[in-house]
Amino acid sequence: MPELPEVEITRLGLEPHLRRRKITGVIVRHRALRWPVPRNLDAILRGERIRAIARRAKYLLLDCGKGTLILHLGMSGSLRIVPSTEAPGPYDHFDLSVGDIAVRLRDPRRFGAVLWHVGDPSRHPLLAHLGVEPLSSAFTGRCLYAAARGRRIPIKQLLMDHRLVAGVGNIYANESLFRARIHPRTAAHRLALGRCERLAAAVRATLADALAAGGSSLRDFVRSDGSPGYFQSQYFVYDRAGLPCRVCGRPIRRIVQGARASFYCPGCQR
Ligand SMILES: [Zn+2]
Repeated sequence: MPELPEVEITRLGLEPHLRRRKITGVIVRHRALRWPVPRNLDAILRGERIRAIARRAKYLLLDCGKGTLILHLGMSGSLRIVPSTEAPGPYDHFDLSVGDIAVRLRDPRRFGAVLWHVGDPSRHPLLAHLGVEPLSSAFTGRCLYAAARGRRIPIKQLLMDHRLVAGVGNIYANESLFRARIHPRTAAHRLALGRCERLAAAVRATLADALAAGGSSLRDFVRSDGSPGYFQSQYFVYDRAGLPCRVCGRPIRRIVQGARASFYCPGCQR
């Protein structure tokens, strides 16, 4: 599943191809994505100029002046720049053309989204309740600490609550807790300010490392071999149950929290 770093790398990869370009056509080959793709998108967008490409959590926002095209990659989606004339594959559900190139959404499982919103995109129902961006300076140990007051839920679940911090998925929650040496089951309200600051720094560092690793794949946006290009990072704990901890050598453990798998080192994380 594309996580926040993949979405940010996608934004960086698309931006030089799309910014200030005029939309010359939209093709919707399959409307039944996670939500129905608007029927009249070609009429709405043709002739409009893309002003900017922003990201909020895992949503990409194409500012088209009179409204915003909201894109989400869902479980299996990817966006690539292809020649407009290139024949689509069976999972290529959506093209947005700017002259002789197009940005193409490939989404085998169809959990992605292509939506149109007029007005302030931050007020769209999918975005309105999102919390602070984890890569922004507004995300601090102090804001984690404030949010954890009186909360008895495990810190991992708090970290994955998008109303608090937007877009920290399961992989990066696991990895950040390892780096901060905090057990994923720790009750949120029991974390002192110092540990919250360590955790916020760990989240930022984990995401920054993934972005740095993904930066090397930027050139891949101009090709069409169909690989989604999700990062294969060297994880400390994620998906490593039973394997030795890279720091202390003890076997990594797996538990289930809120229907999601958590991985931790019983030696390093208390
Ligand atoms: Zn360890």
